[in-house]
Amino acid sequence: MSTSILNADLHCHSVVSDGTLTPEALAARAHANGVELWALTDHDEVGGQQRALAAAQGLGMKYLTGVEISVTFAGQTVHIVGLGFDAQDPRIVEGLRRTRGGRSERAQDMSDGLAKVGIRGAFEGALKFVGNPELISRTHFARFLVESGVCHDTSEVFRNYLTEGKPGFVPHRWASLKDAVHWITDCQGVAVIAHPGRYSFTANEEFALFTEFKAHGGQGVEVVTGSHTPPEFVKYADMAREFNLVASRGSDFHSPDESRIDLGTLPWLPGQLTPVWELLADRIQ
Ligand code: AMP
Ligand code: MN
Ligand code: MN
Ligand code: MN
Repeated sequence: MSTSILNADLHCHSVVSDGTLTPEALAARAHANGVELWALTDHDEVGGQQRALAAAQGLGMKYLTGVEISVTFAGQTVHIVGLGFDAQDPRIVEGLRRTRGGRSERAQDMSDGLAKVGIRGAFEGALKFVGNPELISRTHFARFLVESGVCHDTSEVFRNYLTEGKPGFVPHRWASLKDAVHWITDCQGVAVIAHPGRYSFTANEEFALFTEFKAHGGQGVEVVTGSHTPPEFVKYADMAREFNLVASRGSDFHSPDESRIDLGTLPWLPGQLTPVWELLADRIQ
């Protein structure tokens, strides 16, 4: 049997970044949903890895270390997932620490932008939802704007307030693609392009992203993710073959109240692709 038939969920978020569940609660939910191989991939932070691993091991569920790194490429934010790396290695720990720097100042600027359209106290409001003070994100602002009745749900907040050209949007320079890939690969991990269908690149820019990612040592791409539509599963399965990349699968689960796709409930990876876990067999814990 092909190893693509494995309930692997290699992308989700805890309170250590912008999820609402603890690593332990996520592990329990993944396990209850039949996940056989799990990774917690908090944004720019590995502070939840020990807890996630311990919880997975307590449940008899296989685990890979994970992270989702924010990168600036061709003027857009791109996310690179790292899997199976050594989460204690100072090279990745230090790189991520530098990437997180600047989030607090950006959040102040976002709050100032929102104040100009009459939304007061957004910085303090967002902070109430933050589990990790170094990781204040747009998601926390979105939760505050829903709580205060400005919008009905978080996607409405992003549409009207937190995306390019809107009052709470502040451009930010994240890590370079090269640095992010190297932090992961230098620490024995595999780098994966997260949800490529979510970016608004031209075909040429997307080609450049895949080409440069490979040139830096990136090896994988998310094909089946909660952010893709079924036609995008097909498109990125084709891209994986074209660029000779291994394929990953992950829900990108953030919260029972917000996420459309629950842990472990996505379709299988399409056949004829090499699953990322085949490259990481000796890194599974
Ligand atoms: P940040 O890293 O602060 O820019 O926040 C990015 C996070 O915002 C992503 O990881 C998602 O969790 C969330 N996000 C981005 N776009 C949307 C959207 N359109 N609707 C809901 N959440 C979004
Ligand atoms: Mn997020
Ligand atoms: Mn992402
Ligand atoms: Mn994510």
